[in-house]
Amino acid sequence: MFLRMNIGLLIVVNVLLDSCSALVPTGSISQAEWGGTPVATDSGQTIQYITIHHSGVVFEQGKDPKAYLQNLQKWSRAEKTWIDLPYHYILDLDGNIYDGRNPGLPGDTNTSYDVNHHLIICVLGNYEEQIMSNSQMESLVKFTAKKARKYAVPPENIRTHKDWVPTETVCPGRDIQRLFDSGEFHRMVSDRLKSKN
Ligand SMILES: [Zn+2]
Repeated sequence: MFLRMNIGLLIVVNVLLDSCSALVPTGSISQAEWGGTPVATDSGQTIQYITIHHSGVVFEQGKDPKAYLQNLQKWSRAEKTWIDLPYHYILDLDGNIYDGRNPGLPGDTNTSYDVNHHLIICVLGNYEEQIMSNSQMESLVKFTAKKARKYAVPPENIRTHKDWVPTETVCPGRDIQRLFDSGEFHRMVSDRLKSKN
């Protein structure tokens, strides 16, 4: 998008470059915006943990995340009889973040960890097979840091689904898990927390 910039517009370019990270969204897309029907009430859950998942099914480039979320919401309610999507936030292949279940309500899981007090963030796709893009990674780190700051979640409480139940799941897949195993994810989040935005 910068290809047609006139060299005389250096100031403008500098401003754009300074705000380049703003190209990765920091907010989230509401349920109303993606065509879902939110649950307005909550149980007053307090957040103590942030837990990262993947959806577990390869998400193809070009597939519509909004339609996927609408279907996931219908399936969650009709088949699983859950109150809403099992996740509080969902991140797509481009790093866009969608609101899921109201964070004031605990999430849901098919495994045996206790989901109470967890903020659940799900990356669409199967990261046993897929590779995270840079924009996804940046968005996930930025959003996790933002929520860690908001809820005062300490770094040791930012974990993956597999970290909680290693014998039951590989979620969120090796391309995300490796960042937790190496400490890289926590380093990136803590760098973000030290910065002013
Ligand atoms: Zn999971």
